[in-house]
Amino acid sequence: MKFYKDHYDVIIIGGALAGLSSALMLADKGKSVLVLERHNLPGGIATSFVRGGIEIEAALHEMMSIGEKNNRLKVGKFLDDMGVDIEWLKVPEAYHASFPGVEVTLHPGFETFAKEIDAVVPGTYDKVLAVLSLCHTVFDSVNELSIHPMSKPMMLLKHEAFVKTAGYSTKEVLDTFHLPKEALDLLAPYWIYVGTGFSELPFTIFSVLMADYIGYGSYIPKKLSHEMSLKMAERAEAMGVQIEYRQHVEKILVKDGRVYGVRTARGDEIYADYVISAAYPNKVYTSMIEPLSEVPEKAIKMVNGRRLSLSAFSVIMILDKPAEELGIKDYSIFRGDSADTDKHYDDLKTLGPYKYITCICHNLGNPSVTPEGTCSFSITTLPRVDGWKTVRAEDYDRVKHEVAKQLIDDMSDYFGVNLLDHVLEIVIETPMTIAHYTGMWNGCIYGYAHTMSDHIVARLQTAEEEHFIDGLEFAGAHQISGDGMGPAVTNGRKAAKNVLDAMARKEAAK
Ligand SMILES: Cc1cc2nc3c(=O)[nH]c(=O)nc-3n(C[C@H](O)[C@H](O)[C@H](O)COP(=O)(O)OP(=O)(O)OC[C@H]3O[C@@H](n4cnc5c(N)ncnc54)[C@H](O)[C@@H]3O)c2cc1C
Repeated sequence: MKFYKDHYDVIIIGGALAGLSSALMLADKGKSVLVLERHNLPGGIATSFVRGGIEIEAALHEMMSIGEKNNRLKVGKFLDDMGVDIEWLKVPEAYHASFPGVEVTLHPGFETFAKEIDAVVPGTYDKVLAVLSLCHTVFDSVNELSIHPMSKPMMLLKHEAFVKTAGYSTKEVLDTFHLPKEALDLLAPYWIYVGTGFSELPFTIFSVLMADYIGYGSYIPKKLSHEMSLKMAERAEAMGVQIEYRQHVEKILVKDGRVYGVRTARGDEIYADYVISAAYPNKVYTSMIEPLSEVPEKAIKMVNGRRLSLSAFSVIMILDKPAEELGIKDYSIFRGDSADTDKHYDDLKTLGPYKYITCICHNLGNPSVTPEGTCSFSITTLPRVDGWKTVRAEDYDRVKHEVAKQLIDDMSDYFGVNLLDHVLEIVIETPMTIAHYTGMWNGCIYGYAHTMSDHIVARLQTAEEEHFIDGLEFAGAHQISGDGMGPAVTNGRKAAKNVLDAMARKEAAK
């Protein structure tokens, strides 16, 4: 029996959340699908590892777009509809914000959130609620327009707030509310999840972020993000998808402007009408298309014209005491020496010291995640790839340990406990770890930066023009919905939808 079929409808490069979402959707429509994953496990960054007999989450802090069981948002609903049965836990708070002079824990739910800010900065309830309500209106428009594109005049009529704010940055729109600085600071923490300072961050992106996380809360899978990856892979296989691990795709085969297959590092040539790639367009257009003469100049201009977004630096520790004994009270802490997002975004270009961090104590959202008497605590910052690209191999170990020490010292001061005295296990993830593990271009986990000159709305308008090779689609943080595990699912679905639409057009033209 041959290992591969003679031909597939679709080959998917990468068996992580985006690729598996494409696979599920295509298999659901009866297409023959092959997923080629270079690792021996599905999930990419949505994975875990074991140290000292303890399974440790590699990345996930919290996921957006899941929603309650009886009121799912788009990602939760898709997974339910596909029969991917995940035990979700709701994260108990939005976040604890820690800035000089401010220590406050805020909870999801628009009114609750506004009330809690009002308790710290009196007199701001109505304005904060108005900001959140505007975010919610824009969020609803984005959701509707991404499914039902409509003419510009109709958009103006039905989605006025979306249209009116689309051309403005988060800072510009927030300034119109004339909120005191202390209240604005408390609306800032999630900026790091989309990785652009407020002067450059399109308000559309901020709206989606705030409406989803604050309006509906965030979720984690009880058995870590790897539960999601494994269950998606298992379900895809049950639906007929062929998944092959340890198969690194080196080349995407193209003739006369159209894909016809791939070649793996093992030398297998496998044929298909469509290819969906998790590998970044930068990598695909500069080294994976065979022959490279099939890459149009415009594709190179497109990848060179976009700015890569953030990577991650994370210190993940298993500590020898329960959270409460170490003074850790919150699942999620965002901490900075200020809430100045533009300044922090600039600092992220460097190798530290990093003055804006996000911490998770997993046990406070998932009590049994580590053995009794211990807890899992991670400190993460999201540096831009520029700085880390300058680190020489001989300096890597030293730089990595210096940065980790700075972050641990900062949180030790904060809790008044030397966390290093309590470490049972410790793992340090750097942009290099991520680049090495997932093949992500420069270790960039966030795709291309959202900016006012490369705006999501413009990207939606030009998506069709960015199809440089027939039959080739992309699925990953580098696509329209951007970074994160929820958006990875949405990006995977969008790539599958593009393939299904193209197949339907081809069928109709026969
Ligand atoms: C420390 C950290 C914390 C994070 N926290 C959160 C969070 O709290 N919430 C959130 O939503 N997101 C978070 N993220 C981001 C999130 O993990 C990613 O955005 C998401 O998992 C990306 O999924 P993906 O499917 O697009 O890509 P990836 O997970 O990068 O997967 C790409 C896959 O393709 C495979 N591949 C690549 N090239 C090839 C090839 N040539 N041949 C075969 N296989 C190939 C790789 O092996 C990999 O499996 C975090 C990330 C990190 C690093």
